[in-house]
Amino acid sequence: MIINKEILQIGNPILRKIATEISDIDNPQIQTLIDDLILITKKNYGVGIAAPQIGKSCRLMIIASYPNIRYPDAPLMQPMAMINPRIINHSEEVVEAMEGCLSVKQKRGRVTRYRDITVEYLTRNGDYQRKEYNNFVARIIQHELDHLNGILFVDHVQDELINSEV
Ligand code: ZN
Repeated sequence: MIINKEILQIGNPILRKIATEISDIDNPQIQTLIDDLILITKKNYGVGIAAPQIGKSCRLMIIASYPNIRYPDAPLMQPMAMINPRIINHSEEVVEAMEGCLSVKQKRGRVTRYRDITVEYLTRNGDYQRKEYNNFVARIIQHELDHLNGILFVDHVQDELINSEV
């Protein structure tokens, strides 16, 4: 699939940059970028993606949880854009689980994440939100927010990475 080529892979320096804040959410280019990211997430059966993964180093990410083979208990949600997200609070409790990434093909590894987080962000309409997320969705958010700070899940993996067909 051609669209796969749009996703940058580990080793690309853009994935290691600190992405810049977005100040012009109304800009049609930003709105198009959001639509593109949602489409790419769907086509690749992803549960999330961050703008730097397609070479746009800005603080925008998509969260798109749905029940799947790896995470059968994941909640089904409409793909949602988070702009300039910040984690402003988190639980003491952490959870370990296997993660993968569209930018690290065919590898998975065990990553520890906060179980609960409170996130501030702007929606694609520019509305301010402050919400708590838990478990799998909190994991996706922490994974995608790492991308905005040049961090990949492999940086957190203590054990060996596991080869994965999917
Ligand atoms: Zn990723």
